[in-house]
Amino acid sequence: MASKPEAIIRDEIRALAAYHVPDSSGMVKLDAMENPYRLPADVRGRIAELVANAQINRYPDAAAGALKARLRDALGMPEDAELILGNGSDELIQMLMMATARANAKALSVDPTFVMFRLIASYCRMDYVSVPLQADFSLDTERMLIALEKHRPALVFLAYPNNPTGNLFDAESIERIIRAAPGLVVVDEAYHAFAGRTFMTRLAEFDNLLVMRTLSKSGLAGLRLGLLAGAREWLHHIDKVRLPYNVGVLTQLVAEEALQHRSLLDQQAAVIRAERTRLDAALSAMPGTNVYPSDANFILFRTAAAPRVFDALKQRGVLVKNLHGSHPALDGCLRVTVGTPDENDRFLAALGESLA
Ligand SMILES: *Cc1c(COP(=O)(O)O)cnc(C)c1O
Repeated sequence: MASKPEAIIRDEIRALAAYHVPDSSGMVKLDAMENPYRLPADVRGRIAELVANAQINRYPDAAAGALKARLRDALGMPEDAELILGNGSDELIQMLMMATARANAKALSVDPTFVMFRLIASYCRMDYVSVPLQADFSLDTERMLIALEKHRPALVFLAYPNNPTGNLFDAESIERIIRAAPGLVVVDEAYHAFAGRTFMTRLAEFDNLLVMRTLSKSGLAGLRLGLLAGAREWLHHIDKVRLPYNVGVLTQLVAEEALQHRSLLDQQAAVIRAERTRLDAALSAMPGTNVYPSDANFILFRTAAAPRVFDALKQRGVLVKNLHGSHPALDGCLRVTVGTPDENDRFLAALGESLA
């Protein structure tokens, strides 16, 4: 008789709940930090042409040379920095952990933060340690320094801005952490387009710093393209655990084309930042909400009876993210992605009714 899953599948994997993606058909979708804008029709036409002529019978360029050159240019990467591409930055987190997960090796981050840090650590059998953020979601630098000393983590992850809280941590605190870390520090700049602050230009200052970006939050979530920048000394080892051809022909072609229209993506980000300001003011003016400042394309806010408000929003056709119950520090918290002006108005109207 064949064995049961209990005898074969690792305990920590059986204990996981599958990542739940809610059905959003027909909804105002403000739950996943996507850019609400598509590319203009002429650019989409050009993409259609590129796809029609793509050699999908062939494996992709394994080194993705043309795309990397365009990315270097678009992202203002230092010339001597090395670059690895991933199937989204999620895959880069996985590559980092696979390459460093020696017996008892640890990854360290803050709490609450991006849930994939903890999940991927579990997939890779890496110990995961997290240091609570302060009540205003700023870094507790002293506790971080103590944790570095105590746990000697191989990897430190800092999302800058942080998800789901939306804030940028203090740059000097991050600098102290990088200097004190015994291993690599990965600054995850998934929301860079909305923050305008970066450690990318500071790679040369620290020999243990890596900077991660993604195109997902800037209008290309469906492509799945993330990148990791840093010193060759580190990245050439990380690159060995990358599966060959992890970035497909179509992703390479479309990303290259989209990046030629970088000013369009930048304009979209500027509109989203302006809407963030408007949404923040409108949310703050509502009775019974507590709004956290955001440098990302989403806003975290607290309200009494968050699960009821979440359901009432959903009934009115608006999907946000309910964080209540995910972490004690997020009790009563909902997270709304900044949408188009029209979507934001619909959200605000639905929220007004839901809070009433
Ligand atoms: C969304 C997000 C990512 C994941 O991005 P993908 O490139 O889509 O895999 C990484 N880090 C943070 C902090 C995020 O919020």
